[in-house]
Amino acid sequence: MSLTVLPVRDELRVRPGRLYIAGEWTDAASGQALPHVHPATGECTVTVARGDAADIDRAVRAARAAFDDGPWPDMHAQDRRRLLLRIAALIDAHAEELNRLQTLDNGLPITFSSMPQVSAAFLVDSFEYYAGWVDKIGGRTIPVYPDRAFDFTLREPVGVVGAIIPWNAPLVLLALKLAPALAMGNTVVLKPSELASLCALRFAELLEAVELPPGVFNVVTGTGIEAGASLVSHPGVDKVTFTGGTETGRAVMRACADGLRRVSLELGGKSATLVFADAPDLEMAALHGVGAVAMGLSGQGCACVTRTLVEESIYDAFIEQMRGVLTLVNPGDPFDPATTSGALISPRHLERVLGYVDTGRAEGARLVCGGERLGGALSTGNFVAPAIFADVCNDMRIAQEEIFGPIQSVMPFRDLDEAVQIANASRYGLAGQVWTADIGKAITVARRVRTGTMGINGYSVVPTAPFGGYRHSGFGREGGVESLDLFTEVKNVFVNLT
Ligand code: NDP
Repeated sequence: MSLTVLPVRDELRVRPGRLYIAGEWTDAASGQALPHVHPATGECTVTVARGDAADIDRAVRAARAAFDDGPWPDMHAQDRRRLLLRIAALIDAHAEELNRLQTLDNGLPITFSSMPQVSAAFLVDSFEYYAGWVDKIGGRTIPVYPDRAFDFTLREPVGVVGAIIPWNAPLVLLALKLAPALAMGNTVVLKPSELASLCALRFAELLEAVELPPGVFNVVTGTGIEAGASLVSHPGVDKVTFTGGTETGRAVMRACADGLRRVSLELGGKSATLVFADAPDLEMAALHGVGAVAMGLSGQGCACVTRTLVEESIYDAFIEQMRGVLTLVNPGDPFDPATTSGALISPRHLERVLGYVDTGRAEGARLVCGGERLGGALSTGNFVAPAIFADVCNDMRIAQEEIFGPIQSVMPFRDLDEAVQIANASRYGLAGQVWTADIGKAITVARRVRTGTMGINGYSVVPTAPFGGYRHSGFGREGGVESLDLFTEVKNVFVNLT
């Protein structure tokens, strides 16, 4: 078997070498480019422009002008709503192309890239959902005393939004940031990951047909250190919405603190699944646990459940069930519909993940299977056989640190209290699942585990519900009605009637 060379230029109409600023395609000031190397083949598929501080400055000025002087924030609600619905329709018309582009961007197998939870369908749903909010969000009237007065609030856009996204789910991340930000009347400068910029660029190209006012939406590709850091510290930015690693999130927050800029952070996770002996479908629980790290993006997801806590009485049997799921795993050409598992994003990340396999062994966890680099036809890509570590202690590094790769840590628990205690003994708090047929137990666990989301007998991110973390997983909720708070200011108006 050999992996296909990816058909970027012929099939996908992106303009990767340029930036999108003030409604025009423009070269980076530096004239430099960054290679996009595909994780499954190790080949450079295309280059993208290396935008830097000068380009960010141009983009922020364009967004500033579009906000301060342009028609966008004051546009009639029904006109903005119609524009958002047109964006949704355009994405829908190009959904298959965008899904393939996502596979090209980050190596996510096409079958997964086409699933509603991660595909262009999520982007369509998000734009439709927030289009629906445009003419429904309003303020409230407030009783005042002792003076005779009338008091009310207005919801206004925050201003210029700087949006930074990672490489692992570009279509979902575009949806979570752009749909609510634009719907609420903000203007946006987007900095996608240098490792996966193609979906963002194609999205900008599609928007040309909608004729958004120039400067409302801008894309600057480039590195995090140059373009990203310049964006989050630019005085013309009113709010930063960031998704990425916890360490980077700290740096972003520091930059925002210096400028007293609003910021929301969606960061890493080390989420737990709690599997009770009375789970209605243990096979499905095993599929979710193993699938999280072995399929799709092979564990490179912030909400992946990477600690599996299993009730003692079914511990050994459940581990065998998990091992059985691995027989379904088929790594390979991400454009082949039969492929279930993608490669790790970069050789550097591959080394990091393999290092955690060594760490797990050295810490005394039992390696049930996997953990080696895949060879043969897959040796040019960054493929690792999914690893299951059993008998993990929760204080081991493999149980505490976000690996972002195909490694599952399994540990037993005696009862509900111990399971919750283990689940909460983590600096992260992003996601989690509980598997049980006892709804009372399920709700108790869901309430006691300190995470931003919790799934009962399964979980999926949906555009209509909030998503985000506790503690080192960040703060702020994206998705659902909660996003409206992130992207609006509340103004109070007091009318003196005396
Ligand atoms: P990084 O934090 O390395 O990068 C995220 C984004 O930030 C990229 O666009 C990156 O650019 C940019 N960036 C890097 N340094 C800076 C800086 N100093 N200032 C501003 N921007 C910067 O994360 P990864 O791309 O490696 O993504 C993986 C991480 O993202 C994981 O920890 C994962 O858990 C988290 N994540 C969280 C999600 C959530 O919703 N909670 C969802 C998805 C991922 P560049 O890539 O060009 O360096």
